[in-house]
Amino acid sequence: MSRRITRPTVTAVTTAAPCPCGLPAPYGDCCGRLHRGEAAAPTAELLMRSRFSAFAVRDEAYLIRTWHPATRPQDTGIDPGLQWVRLEIRSVTEGGPFHTHGAVDFSAHFIDRGYPEVLHEHSRFVRHEGAWVYFDALPQP
Ligand SMILES: [Zn+2]
Repeated sequence: MSRRITRPTVTAVTTAAPCPCGLPAPYGDCCGRLHRGEAAAPTAELLMRSRFSAFAVRDEAYLIRTWHPATRPQDTGIDPGLQWVRLEIRSVTEGGPFHTHGAVDFSAHFIDRGYPEVLHEHSRFVRHEGAWVYFDALPQP
């Protein structure tokens, strides 16, 4: 008997591919600009979208730098066995250009080792040194 070896699915997201965040733009012109540090997210919703895309393309450095220092973990916990496929923004509270706080309710669709799953979350964002950062999240039923 041999052990079954499962290899994680690697998704190559090119700059011309549709952005994983779901906005109708190529990755390179959408969240890719934020990941490369060429622009900052103007709203909490766009930061949320760019962080979902960072999980999809496994940009751990971006996740770390958009995480509030008070709640930032040592390790982002990117699981190579998960493939993040679609983000659905359900509602947004504040988080605009003139706010200091914001919250986003979303459903993140992913595939866990072949099985489709959905994560429902209420994420909280704050402005830190002028830029939107992720603060924490409350799980939603
Ligand atoms: Zn995007």
